[in-house]
Amino acid sequence: MTKHTTGIKESPEGFPSVAKEDAINAEAIIRKFSGLKIWSNGDQRAPHKPLLILLALANCQQGRQRLMPYAEINVKLKQLLEDFGPARRSIKTVSPFWRLTTDGLWDIPRRNEITVQADGDPSKQILLSRNICGGFPEDMFEFLSRRPEIISQLAREILTEHFPESIHDDIILSIGLQTDFQGKLSQKIKRDPDFRNKILTVYQYQCAICGFDMRLGNNPVCLEAAHIKWHQAGGPAIEQNGIALCSMHHKMFDRGVFSINENYCIKTSKHINGSCGLEEWLYRYEDKQILLPRSKDYSPARSFTEWHFREVFKHYEA
Ligand SMILES: [Zn+2]
Repeated sequence: MTKHTTGIKESPEGFPSVAKEDAINAEAIIRKFSGLKIWSNGDQRAPHKPLLILLALANCQQGRQRLMPYAEINVKLKQLLEDFGPARRSIKTVSPFWRLTTDGLWDIPRRNEITVQADGDPSKQILLSRNICGGFPEDMFEFLSRRPEIISQLAREILTEHFPESIHDDIILSIGLQTDFQGKLSQKIKRDPDFRNKILTVYQYQCAICGFDMRLGNNPVCLEAAHIKWHQAGGPAIEQNGIALCSMHHKMFDRGVFSINENYCIKTSKHINGSCGLEEWLYRYEDKQILLPRSKDYSPARSFTEWHFREVFKHYEA
């Protein structure tokens, strides 16, 4: 093949170098995001940074300005943490906003104007009164604006890495993200393909809460195997960390609407409200024991139910 002197170099495969460059950047950017350190203090959930990144990805996707005022992030991130984070007495939005810069994923142009406190973070008041803004670094933002499919992929990667699939759509809708990414994720979460079968078998193909056991022919419908301690938090795919739930109770369980206490009794969140179906789907099971596997060896292990109670269940008082 004759080399042309067009000024644009070609890669060995014949693609213009700009396409190759983009591919390299995409990989580097995805790697950066996947290197995000979030699980702190053992297995305590800290979804602050992932949720902040998802907010910033939506901001980019919607064609808005790169830098978002902390005041705006504070409101939106707080709501997301209330909805999808663990129940905590105080919800922190300053730390993720301030500390994401050290992951190389965040830019606060007027960072030097701000004095920090003993813990290394500035006060919320100073960020608000100085109208401090933050966002993706310029080159990253510019790159993502040109490559919307990378935004979709990153959003999917972050969701897969940090949240169970049953709540992905709820998060996407809350943030206003479009994620039509269908491709292969770079870091596929390894799943045990037998987990579902194992769990449904020990629970005799019925929901451990309501007993729902519909089948179409021989196939259970709307019956799922849920991890008690999330796979994303290191929960293993074993019987003692699984529970068979109908689709409705699975979603509620992963959102923290109810949990299971040390006696395998169902506890419902005090934060639920609504007027229809609550008695039928939820309150009638309050304090009742779940339908346990026939073999005690397969009953949920306490360490996993405790994790769910502490990290997922919306137990805090209003
Ligand atoms: Zn059910």
